[in-house]
Amino acid sequence: MTHLLHRAIHSRLPVAVRGEGIYIHDSEGKAYIDASGGAAVSCLGHSHPDVLKALHEQLDAIAYAHTGFFTTDVAERLGDRLIEDAPAGLEKVYLVSGGSEAVEAALKMARQYFVETGEHGRRHVIARRQSYHGNTLGALAAGGNEWRRTQFRPLLIETHHISPCYAYRHQHEGETAEEYGERAARELEEKILELGEDLVMAFIAEPVVGATSGAVPPAPGYFRKIREICDRYGVLLILDEVMCGMGRTGTLHACEQEGISPDLMTIAKGLGGGYQPIGAVLLSGRIFEAFEQGSGFFQHGHTYMGHPMAAAAGLAVQEVIRRDGLLANVVAMGEHLADGLAKRFGQNANVGDIRGRGLFQAIELVENKETKAPFDPVLKVNAHIKREAMDRGLMVYPMGGTIDGREGDHVLIAPPFISTKGDIEAIVDRLGAAVDAAIGSTGRT
Ligand code: PMP
Repeated sequence: MTHLLHRAIHSRLPVAVRGEGIYIHDSEGKAYIDASGGAAVSCLGHSHPDVLKALHEQLDAIAYAHTGFFTTDVAERLGDRLIEDAPAGLEKVYLVSGGSEAVEAALKMARQYFVETGEHGRRHVIARRQSYHGNTLGALAAGGNEWRRTQFRPLLIETHHISPCYAYRHQHEGETAEEYGERAARELEEKILELGEDLVMAFIAEPVVGATSGAVPPAPGYFRKIREICDRYGVLLILDEVMCGMGRTGTLHACEQEGISPDLMTIAKGLGGGYQPIGAVLLSGRIFEAFEQGSGFFQHGHTYMGHPMAAAAGLAVQEVIRRDGLLANVVAMGEHLADGLAKRFGQNANVGDIRGRGLFQAIELVENKETKAPFDPVLKVNAHIKREAMDRGLMVYPMGGTIDGREGDHVLIAPPFISTKGDIEAIVDRLGAAVDAAIGSTGRT
């Protein structure tokens, strides 16, 4: 009998014993292609020799030193690297242990900024329905994913939600992508005015939406309009790049493709590639100056922030990506993946949409392609796909989101940046067979 809660609930979990490149091997000798890194984490695959070497060296030197007493060379170097490559205006880094911690810290930075600058009334957070920002209470409150929030609602801080930018579901017929982007962004302005323009603190959004709807890119111009609206009303823009950032979409930061910079940006998963738990907030010079000239510090902290082992992992992963020119491979393999998915699923009566950027792509499953009606949630199509894929030695990330109040299903594919053409073809082949088997088993084709 297991004493691990997650294992007690998922009794069928295989035991992972070894990772090598794009593969995870279990205790029965079966190999799985890690085509999602769990949830878009393992950007370099497993057991990368350069990352292991850096980790061993750091462990030999020093594993832990509290940031209240010491800094470390490795954390300083990671900070330098992140700012060197950061979107314009982001000048400081706050290292934490994961995505939710980064979002919590970003929300508190936004609030402290307004306290330091004398705008004490600013407290409202606006986010989007169908967004995921983490599972700690502040991050959960910001996220719009109802099934994750429902039972915890009495514990959550007040937040406000607008529609996501989700062309497949919300773009009107006869409307151009640009017109749709403009309309979706205008909801932010309406919400700011409704809440009171002096009372809104921050708008938080994922540039390319991950867990809740599966690699949904924004409409062209949407984020430029969002940036304009935030500037007009003095609202801070927090971009949550925990999943879509650090090269996943083909540029180091997803917001580069939108031509904008945020005031605060959260990163995590691909930062350390799963070799250690690490996340970070990147903040603008303006926010830092408010802290510096005000109370002189940021009123926050965690025991493991700036952890040397985590920093060593982050630095090594980012150095390998840069040294080996892996972003170019993300773009090339992303195109190959998009082609493969289009060929395999383009004519499939139950695949309503194929979308994404770089090595961050998804298919959305529907019961009826004409009406875009999702499958009944009781059929648990995404759970079936996960099981069929695992049976075929493939790890992808199938999830149910909420589409206009009903559960919808999608499968996220986020393979390592080191993937080859042959790897991508094997992923598409196995996924095709898993989707056919899963949908076949519902009897609804
Ligand atoms: N933000 C986004 C966009 C995420 O995708 C996630 C994790 N799926 C988080 C925040 C939370 O990160 P973590 O699970 O590391 O706390």
